Amino acid sequence: MSNLKIKFCGGAGSVTGANFLIYDDNIKVLVDCGLEQGSKMAETTNWEPFPYNPKEIDFLLVTHAHTDHIGRIPKLIHDGFSGKIISTPATKDLSRIMLEDTARILSNSESGKKFGLDEIYSEEVIQKIFSIWDTEDLHKEFSLNSDVKIYMKDSGHILGSSMFIIDWSGKKIVFTGDLGNSPSPLLPDTEYIDSADYVIMESVYGDRNHEERNERRENLKKIMNENHKKSGILVVPIFSLERTQEFLYEMNELIEGGEVPHMSVYVDSPLAIKVTDIFYKYKNLFKESVRNDIKKGDDIFNFKGLRETEKTSDSKAILNSKNPKIIMAGSGMSAGGRIMHHEKNYLGDPNATILITGFQTPGTPGRLLLDGAKEINIFDETVKINAQIKMIKGYSGHRDSNGLFDFVSNIKDVKKVFLAMGEPRVAMFFAQRINDNLPTKAVVPEKDQEFIL
Ligand SMILES: [Zn+2]
Repeated sequence: MSNLKIKFCGGAGSVTGANFLIYDDNIKVLVDCGLEQGSKMAETTNWEPFPYNPKEIDFLLVTHAHTDHIGRIPKLIHDGFSGKIISTPATKDLSRIMLEDTARILSNSESGKKFGLDEIYSEEVIQKIFSIWDTEDLHKEFSLNSDVKIYMKDSGHILGSSMFIIDWSGKKIVFTGDLGNSPSPLLPDTEYIDSADYVIMESVYGDRNHEERNERRENLKKIMNENHKKSGILVVPIFSLERTQEFLYEMNELIEGGEVPHMSVYVDSPLAIKVTDIFYKYKNLFKESVRNDIKKGDDIFNFKGLRETEKTSDSKAILNSKNPKIIMAGSGMSAGGRIMHHEKNYLGDPNATILITGFQTPGTPGRLLLDGAKEINIFDETVKINAQIKMIKGYSGHRDSNGLFDFVSNIKDVKKVFLAMGEPRVAMFFAQRINDNLPTKAVVPEKDQEFIL
């Protein structure tokens, strides 16, 4: 008996902060090491000691480059981890950009000073991370030791994202990471898994289905055309990784295809600009139709009127540029970043539209806008809201309830499904759906709960 166990150290009872430990007497492996995000409490819990000794961990497997899956790797290193990190090459490249950005934000934040985060997120630590980070390609088996073999499949969530299928002394364990909302504008569909003994899967949207996925492009077209017609300002709070590139791709098609007239489109985010460069580097990972566009000579993220504003002075100059215009900037929930300056400038303007592009966590400024706030506080100033607030649905990067169910019902011989990375109420709802309809058992682990496999 190998005495195989799994411990849910993070991403249990919450969407963010993914961190799972799987181990036996010989080897200890972590899957993901993310930041808990979005709540006041997270500002403290992120900096508590890990519920294991980082010095004893042999490997860290990384599913994808979102901060809620990688953001605590610097703390792991700082606390003594010196094993190997493994991911796809695209995830490694994207993680470097994302971690440098996280380091900059955290070091300058209030909790940064309180918890000494400039030391944890130092340049030295970031460098160490990438010196011990190995890459493996999808669909190619590799081993951690004589008992543990790993195979990665495409999860279709963001560029480089992978599922880990682990053969641990004959037991098959699948870590899904986040699962894509296929079909995505850019990426191939989420791959299916044939069989497994245990599945550790995400459940963010376990209780609801995405509306308007098929109409998302039409909705974007309509909103862009309306903005052009009224010579307006379309302000788009947007996530730098994946969502920005999806929008650029769709806008490129709409504008070059003559469905929307030219207008100035600003990508006002140094992070998004860097991420887009990585997307160009890994264009072989896009789905076939997108690769065909590229083969035909289309520059898929570039079109007439597009401007990337890296420098602060260029960002400030957008205010005085001609209408109609579209401004895309982070953060996606208006909780920091350059978007706050644009919202301060334009929220009072009835000729402006704020376009929300994804889920907004309760308590964030984006959520207040969406819930119909009449005024909002930005940089200690009260701003009256006269702009229109619109939301475009269907660009979610996560599978919905039916999509998750379809995924899990295709896996044969499953002994147990562990539902992680979801709000407890949502994960419970989805567990019930599995338990009522499939010949397997689903459970919702609590934080730090341990199971024998
Ligand atoms: Zn993700």
